[in-house]
Amino acid sequence: MKDDKSAKAKGPAVKTTRAAKVTSKSRTAQAKTASKPDKNKPGTRKSAASTTATKKPAAKEPAAKKPTPRKPAKSKTKRRRPSVSPDRINAIFSRFHQIDPEPTGELEHTDAFTLLVAVVLSAQATDAGVNKATRHLFAAAKTPQEMVALGEDKVRELIKTIGLYRNKAKNVVALSQKLIDEYDGEVPNDETALESLPGVGRKTANVVLNVWFGKPTMAVDTHVFRIAHRLGFSNGKTPDDVERDLLAIVPEEYGVPAHHWLILHGRYLCKARKPECWRCPIEEHCPMKDKTPAPRK
Ligand code: SF4
Repeated sequence: MKDDKSAKAKGPAVKTTRAAKVTSKSRTAQAKTASKPDKNKPGTRKSAASTTATKKPAAKEPAAKKPTPRKPAKSKTKRRRPSVSPDRINAIFSRFHQIDPEPTGELEHTDAFTLLVAVVLSAQATDAGVNKATRHLFAAAKTPQEMVALGEDKVRELIKTIGLYRNKAKNVVALSQKLIDEYDGEVPNDETALESLPGVGRKTANVVLNVWFGKPTMAVDTHVFRIAHRLGFSNGKTPDDVERDLLAIVPEEYGVPAHHWLILHGRYLCKARKPECWRCPIEEHCPMKDKTPAPRK
C-alpha cells in the first residue's frame, strides 16, 4: 500500500497469515471458505461461564453491539455527490458478495499489532514486498516491547527492501513505544488514538479498524479511488471526498467487506491501464464507456 494520505497509493489490502494466497483468477472465482476463528480477534472470544454461588437466574448475554461507522472526514470542497440508483448499488455489492462472501486482504499478520505494523510499512510498497520483509521482522519482534528492544537500527536493516524504510523503521519503533506508554501495549480500537500514533494516518487507521476491529470503514487507496469514479459512485477529487461518498452509499450489510471488494476488484480486474471488462462480474452494472473487449485468440 502506498502513501497513507494519497489517492495514488497502492492497495491497503490486508491478509491474515492463514488466508489463502489470492490469484487474479481466484478473486473472480466463486466463494472462498470462511476464515478460521481467531480467539484473540475481537468479537470471536468466548466469554467465561459464570460460576456464582447463589442460584440467581442466568443473566441474559447482552446483544452484540453493532459497530458504529466512523465519521467521514470533513469536506474541504463544495460539490454534489453523483446520484446513483440504489438498485445499481445493490446489484453491484450483492454480486461481489456472491462471488467472494468473506474477502480478506493480503498483508500477513497474526494480531492487531502485526497488522498495524504491516499497514504502516505498506505505504509506497506492494503487499508482496511488505510480506517478504515482515516475515523477517516479525520473527525478530512481534510485540511492541520486542520491537522497542530490537531498536531502530535493526528494524531498519530488516525492512530495507521496502521503500521509505528509514522513516518507517523510525515510526515502527516510535509507535511501539507509544503503545507501551499510553495504551498498555495494546492497539487501541479508536480512530483518534490510532491516528495519534507515529506513521499512522486516516487510511491506515481505517484498515486496522476494519480488518481487526470489524468496523465499517472505507480505506481509500488508488484502486478504491479509481473504481469509485469508474462506477460513478463518486466525483471526489480527494480520498476523503471519495471515502465520504462511498460511506454514504454502501449498503449497511456490506459495510465491512466493501473496501476489500473494491481494492481486490481494482487490483485484479478493473486495472488502471487496461480494465479486464470482458470478464468483469459487474460489467452489466458499470456505466463506463469504451469497455475493454476480450482479447483475440
Ligand atoms: S466493466 Fe470494466 S471498467 Fe467497469 S468495473 Fe468492470 S472492469 Fe472496471
